[in-house]
Amino acid sequence: MADYPNLLAPLDLGFTTLKNRVLMGSMHTGLEETRDWNRVAEFYAERARGGVALMVTGGMAPNAEGGVFPGAAGLFSDADIANHKIVTDRVHDAGGKIAMQILHAGRYAYSKACVAPSAVKSPISPFPPKELDEDGIEKQISDMVTAASRAKEAGYDGVEVMGSEGYFLNQFLVTHTNKREDRWGGNYENRMRLPVEVVRRVRAAVGDDFIVIYRLSMIDLIPNGSTWDEVVMLAKAIEAAGATILNTGIGWHEARIPTIATSVPRRAFTWVTKKLMGEVNIPIITSNRINTPQVGEDVLSDGCADMVSMARPFLADPHFVTKAAAGQADLIAPCIACNQACLDHTFSMKIASCLVNPKAAHETELVLSPSSKSVGVVGAGPAGLASALAAAERGMAVTVFDRADEIGGQLNMAKQVPGKEEFWGLVDYYRAAVAQAGITLKLGQDASADDLRDFDEVIIATGVAPRDPRIEGQDGPNVLSYIDVLRGKAEVGKRVAIIGAGGIGFDVAEFLVTDDSPTENLDEWLEEWGVGDPAETRGGLRADGAKPDAAVRHVTLLQRKAQKLGKGLGKTTGWIHRAALKMKEVEMIGGVNYERIDADGLHVSFGEARERPTLIAVDTIVLCAGQVPERSLADTLEAEGIACHVIGGADVAAELDAKRAIDQGTRLVASL
Ligand code: NAP
Ligand code: SF4
Repeated sequence: MADYPNLLAPLDLGFTTLKNRVLMGSMHTGLEETRDWNRVAEFYAERARGGVALMVTGGMAPNAEGGVFPGAAGLFSDADIANHKIVTDRVHDAGGKIAMQILHAGRYAYSKACVAPSAVKSPISPFPPKELDEDGIEKQISDMVTAASRAKEAGYDGVEVMGSEGYFLNQFLVTHTNKREDRWGGNYENRMRLPVEVVRRVRAAVGDDFIVIYRLSMIDLIPNGSTWDEVVMLAKAIEAAGATILNTGIGWHEARIPTIATSVPRRAFTWVTKKLMGEVNIPIITSNRINTPQVGEDVLSDGCADMVSMARPFLADPHFVTKAAAGQADLIAPCIACNQACLDHTFSMKIASCLVNPKAAHETELVLSPSSKSVGVVGAGPAGLASALAAAERGMAVTVFDRADEIGGQLNMAKQVPGKEEFWGLVDYYRAAVAQAGITLKLGQDASADDLRDFDEVIIATGVAPRDPRIEGQDGPNVLSYIDVLRGKAEVGKRVAIIGAGGIGFDVAEFLVTDDSPTENLDEWLEEWGVGDPAETRGGLRADGAKPDAAVRHVTLLQRKAQKLGKGLGKTTGWIHRAALKMKEVEMIGGVNYERIDADGLHVSFGEARERPTLIAVDTIVLCAGQVPERSLADTLEAEGIACHVIGGADVAAELDAKRAIDQGTRLVASL
């Protein structure tokens, strides 16, 4: 408590008290759509047990046309109430509180039935929306109010009315999407009529003793977004309409500025929420890239908000708050803001989970039951560490071997990349968790068959080795491997060609063009992406646009495939990596054949007929041509008749990432 006095202080709402200042923000996990209500209930109950004061569910559609996609979960009928009650009862039994988010997607609904203030198609949806008439608007209000009443009946402690991120209510607020000339469009008072009316009627329907959160877009980050005066006017009107709490929304989904990715500085937007403090008399929540108790505490002690919202950190570690309160912040599994297992899954219609915690949203299925076996793990990268921790959780006696002097494996390279600083925290967490779990670490040591033969189970997580691309001249002095570069051991010239444009090729490019990481300097990051004060520039978009620092090297990124580079990068983050490199004028060339390397640089040609011989005149060539499994120890053990389980990159190197490695390690151990 002493460490985080503001974060752990209760918040008195008059009719109820929140036990601390931490809200679990809304996330779409896809669990509700499974209709396995026991599983949904266990997901939330586990987080309630972890001490969070209040949780907000994933967005629930108030009607079919407002669903994010056809079949999206909602609370459409009285029959649904009993299902939701399974969740609220379980959360209450676990000592928690939960509010249901009412999410009307408007033109963001991925369906032909989508509706909006005006027939203006969104750039991120193929479906033009139907413009609502007066009756249509009345129906939407009434459906949202009915959803709130049903939520109350289902035992929720409140609702969150989703008014930000460019969804339906937000679409009425700005002329970008609202071209109406009736009482729902035109001047700002008219444009804000709908959200205010929804909150007013929700409050009337649910009575006084029920939490009503309104999520308000405080910086739209789109052309013709709201001005700051409009944000303040709306906040006051929403308060007067009966909201209990205001939550912060940052950026529309169609904004071309990253708002939650790992390269966004921590607490990058809490200054926006702070501007609203003192303008209203109800508590205000801030959000985005808050992922440790200390960051949350600093945000509150700096007067940026009354409460902090964290969403993904509760996938990474449901026990965030209890660990913070117990002085065990170093044992909180950190959300590294990668989106790989949460948002990327959601946008691929898969159940969300978490890269660092594969149990997230799989609480009823991925269970680590007690066992007294002994386990030897070789490799202290993500796969090995995840399996070791899972084994220790089962009560197994675990020994981990690694040739290196430090744990982390490839994570130690990732953390060197500008914009991937969160990996430092992940490695720190693993170090603390391994020590706390009583795992025996044998570092700086090649494990032999003799070291391993007495364990009940042997797990080989020896990772990968760089693929040899067999290019003529690759042994020359001007050629480096990505390992030499990311470990900072090699001199790199001013003009660089990178062979291979996978995740590592992109990372190496970022590393080579950047001097000081803007992720570590908020002012620089805001300038780089063209984010301004919404009090000075509508929607927070600077008129002079993005102003990145000049690249410190000229980089050319190449691949053999004749397709857009970076196509295989994360679904929700790939565009950020591409945009970041574009800002640094990295040249991207696909469809090449690598002919040879000599003192002049890299010689390539194009197409099957090897046409257009071209010299890419560079000082340094970096090989990022993918990886192959490092299985020599596994092969030795097999030859000696010692059974072992091979996981991670040592198992399959293609398309390896930490998500697969950690998931595979954890699931293997659960099955032993
Ligand atoms: P990758 O994503 O498989 O990319 C390999 C690249 O090498 C491709 O662009 C491929 O393109 C090229 N390539 C393949 N065979 C080649 C050959 N024989 N000669 C020349 N080029 C060849 O592998 P990666 O970039 O090594 O990334 C591995 C995984 O780690 C990815 O899933 C990534 O998400 C993850 N990752 C890891 C880190 C880390 O630091 N450990 C960082 C970022 C990402 P063409 O075949 O078209 O030439
Ligand atoms: Fe955070 Fe990545 Fe886990 Fe998502 S998958 S919760 S971004 S660590």
